[in-house]
Amino acid sequence: MSRPDLNPVALHPGVIAFHQPPGGWFVSNAGLVAGRDAALQIDTFATEPLNRRLETAIDAYLEPGTPRTVALTHAHGDHAHGAGRLAAAGATILATPPAAGEVLSGPHTYDFLFSCDWGAIDPPADISPVTEPRTLDLGGTSVAVVPVPGPAHTHGDLVAWHADSGTLFTGDLLFLGVTPLAISGSIAGWLDALTWLETFSASTYVPGHGPVTAAADDLVAEVREYFEWLREAVAGSADFAAIEAAARARWPEWGAGERHGVNARIAYSQAHGVDLDFAAGVEDLLTSAAAHGEPMTEAGLIRLDL
Ligand SMILES: [Zn+2]
Repeated sequence: MSRPDLNPVALHPGVIAFHQPPGGWFVSNAGLVAGRDAALQIDTFATEPLNRRLETAIDAYLEPGTPRTVALTHAHGDHAHGAGRLAAAGATILATPPAAGEVLSGPHTYDFLFSCDWGAIDPPADISPVTEPRTLDLGGTSVAVVPVPGPAHTHGDLVAWHADSGTLFTGDLLFLGVTPLAISGSIAGWLDALTWLETFSASTYVPGHGPVTAAADDLVAEVREYFEWLREAVAGSADFAAIEAAARARWPEWGAGERHGVNARIAYSQAHGVDLDFAAGVEDLLTSAAAHGEPMTEAGLIRLDL
């Protein structure tokens, strides 16, 4: 299966979102803010073929030779696997220090869980650490790269904020139409980060997965509701299969519903201060994905048709 078009969404002159439907495992979004003199790309894609397509799509918006900076919203491969190619072409790569460390130690392909032909996804040689908000003057417009104050989706998230258009590229702090994945961060921290997101008073959110959305449609409240529901669900129960079933019934339109069970395990471990049984969580993912008709290989891996 080849992926559908990247669906560039022009949000403002020089501000473009690239959305890959339907937004599930490793099917992520990216963005571009282009000024007169330079451009900021927000995130990359998961595989070499997808990154080549993204690069071609972005080049169509830029004069040849435009200096490019790439901000990685976090270290997950679906957002970061193209950074090495762009760095080799002369781009400067930005990430928070925890994300930079994770990316530089990769590439991470989670071979115990997924099968995929990744292509060339080697990390960049160097990443410039973002430890505090940094504003990039692109010529005629500027964009801010802002670290998330605490752990949330991961332990090193950042967002990109284009104030002129009210556009916030949130990375995986927001998922739309796809089950959020909490395996790498802190659910309590994620809830704090959602409150922090609202302080931007953005008019448009570009989530990490799923379509661009008006802030007025309140995706923040939807994600908040999910994690508050999850914390309540695990307060008195460790029946993760039952919690997953209840979550699938409550959010039937969300893709990647197999994440509910492992999210519940994470929520339980963080709420009760007990170790996460990671192997059991992986087994939950594979079992649930297979039971609900997600593509699986004979080896029991989730097959990514990227
Ligand atoms: Zn992620």
